[in-house]
Amino acid sequence: MNFDQILIVDWSASGKPSPARPSADAIWIGTADVATGALSDSYHRTRHGAEAELHDKVSMALTRGERLLIGADFAFGYPSGFAHALTETTRALAVWDWLEARLLDDADNVNNHKALAAAINAMFPGDGPFWGNGEKAEYHGLNRKRAKLPDNLAAQRATEHAAIAGKSRPKSVWQLAGAGVVGAQALVGMPALARLRRRFSGQVAVWPFEPCDTAAVVLAEVYPSLLAAEVTALMATPAQPRHETSRRLIKDAVQVRLLAAAIARLAAQDALSQMFEIDALPEILAEEGWILGVGAETALRRAAQQVAGSVLVARTQAAPHLMDQPAALVPPRLRNDCFAMPQGVDWVPVDDALALLRANLVPVTGVETMPLAQASGRVLATDMVAQRSNPPRANSAVDGYGFAHAATGSGVQRLALVQGRAAAGQPFTGAVPTGMAIRILTGAVLPAGVDCVVMEEDTATDQGTIAFDGPIKAHANTREAGEDVREGETALSAGHRLRAPDLALLAALGLDTVQVHRRLRVGVFSTGDEIVTTGAAQPHQIYDANRPMLLALAKAWGFIPVDLGHVPDDPTLIAALLDDGAARCDAVLTSGGASAGDEDHVSRLLSARGVLSSWRIAMKPGRPLALALWPDGSGRGVPVFGLPGNPVAAFVCALIFARPALSVLSGAGWQSASGFMVPAAFSKRKKAGRREYLRARMNSDGQAEVFASEGSGRISGLSWATGLVELPDEAVDITPGVPVLFLPYGSYGL
Ligand code: AMP
Ligand code: MG
Repeated sequence: MNFDQILIVDWSASGKPSPARPSADAIWIGTADVATGALSDSYHRTRHGAEAELHDKVSMALTRGERLLIGADFAFGYPSGFAHALTETTRALAVWDWLEARLLDDADNVNNHKALAAAINAMFPGDGPFWGNGEKAEYHGLNRKRAKLPDNLAAQRATEHAAIAGKSRPKSVWQLAGAGVVGAQALVGMPALARLRRRFSGQVAVWPFEPCDTAAVVLAEVYPSLLAAEVTALMATPAQPRHETSRRLIKDAVQVRLLAAAIARLAAQDALSQMFEIDALPEILAEEGWILGVGAETALRRAAQQVAGSVLVARTQAAPHLMDQPAALVPPRLRNDCFAMPQGVDWVPVDDALALLRANLVPVTGVETMPLAQASGRVLATDMVAQRSNPPRANSAVDGYGFAHAATGSGVQRLALVQGRAAAGQPFTGAVPTGMAIRILTGAVLPAGVDCVVMEEDTATDQGTIAFDGPIKAHANTREAGEDVREGETALSAGHRLRAPDLALLAALGLDTVQVHRRLRVGVFSTGDEIVTTGAAQPHQIYDANRPMLLALAKAWGFIPVDLGHVPDDPTLIAALLDDGAARCDAVLTSGGASAGDEDHVSRLLSARGVLSSWRIAMKPGRPLALALWPDGSGRGVPVFGLPGNPVAAFVCALIFARPALSVLSGAGWQSASGFMVPAAFSKRKKAGRREYLRARMNSDGQAEVFASEGSGRISGLSWATGLVELPDEAVDITPGVPVLFLPYGSYGL
């Protein structure tokens, strides 16, 4: 177990923003760098601000390939017996999600944790377990005085019993108000971490609930009072005039720095495993959690004593700009009616459907800053303006001799050479007199007096002089400053997806950092009672062909594919998966159940709970398409593309509709495939009224041949093909040689 950075978060349950001036009882995040021991801390007025900082830190770490340990000072679980009452599981992480779905916490810290505690109390006999409301008045359902606990709930978790922190012990998580309590922090903290975990799903693991050995980011519960004695000693140290001039020591800041520094010290000594290996019952760990460091207090305190000196000289960093602008965190919302088809339309022509999507969708992904070198495949969020010209100075395009054009003419030219030479990276600093020449190499800046170059191959030389045949053209073999791009020009525009050559361009223009859209998270699940994923399939079952296909499409398009699994045709299970998808993803692709039949629960659910528009598209294959916004619990709708179940139809609908729509959501703008007209190698007569896509490939005569069968269950044809032939909405009568539009898979980003 090792990490590059240790972050310690001192959380707060405050109901309003903390003062602008850094102060106690607010949120402090201490950071220690394991390799260098460097320490810093940051101060946050609101939970939203702190959460944004954590999200930034995690995405930075992921882009840099660093491992983070984030310790937070509130309970990650409750005494055993509690999880089951809420979630019918004994998993602490199920409690996180349960709380996250119900806790409201706005940008100004206004939150409903007391109402939530009262609602939980109502689920238990008696008047507890939560108590303490922090007010003089009674709060309905939440006692001011200690509540009698239901029989099966303990006041404290096993880890709290085991914690040795001087004379103090952690307070009971049931206590929500009073000095030194953590109950309210836990209620408002677990939801924040649940979001972090979901946003970076697969890369964040929560200790000790999940395997943590390989996760890039590990979240763990900490208890800074384990170092109470060391903190007290530090607070008593006279302020160091050089470093702490304008500010008295704030205990919270010192605490987070010290704990981060101590853990970083242990990490640097490769001695962290003693903290992560806990001798307790696995079921207790899975439900209650454990405080990191309990059981290894001695080692932790020794490390703290070793690093104490560095803690006082650390500085508080300027608060990140996001802190006071929670609005910046909220991605733009889609309009509720963004998928609404005009009333009375029966069969929607493909172009109308596309025009509607194009008009109504907007980017939903936030923006992050990253080094250019890591931004391949990402979508620019801003225009990129050249910081310098390319080339920055006029230079030579060849190896040869440079001189002033004005002094040359036709016939044999003889020019004396000046001493020295100009090479790339080694400019000639003197001037070349008119009528003389200088040795110059490719890429060398043209010295003063030189405006043209003759190629070495075209000259004869005897050290002191060169001879060549004139005339030579003005500016021959030179590159003008800025001839490629001039400083101040927009080199690439927002919405552009960065490819390898774009990285070369931006690097050349002095742009080493880019603001890009966060990658769109695209969830995929399959529906159908007949579908199985693994193992032996019964005769009435079929393997899930759509999910791997759709996940691969999402990945090829530069999105983060999120595998949401498979559900039978059961509305409750489908709804749960849509909830899960809405919480974890920016968009969801489903397949199956999208028509209007008995078992077509996806479209039924989407019309009941989402804002659905069921589209019957005048197209073959793949007519039914269910598009909807599914509520994600925070009032935002997550777009769901209900694709047909037939793999061929699902594939074609994904290329034609989902790809451009997802592209807009991702910030990359609308994308249409560009094909080319080629002679048909087949015959086909088609009626007016719908567009058709045929599985096709180019034959060796440069003609488009099509797959033998148009059956939409014929997956082999998709694989046989290298593209699609698009036949227009109108009637056509294709015979061999008639031009048809061939759209290679490549033009769909595959
Ligand atoms: P549905 O749209 O649910 O009526 O499904 C249409 C057809 O596609 C049925 O024959 C399904 O068995 C088939 N199908 C649905 N989902 C999948 C899938 N994930 N993989 C392969 N075939 C599927
Ligand atoms: Mg089905």
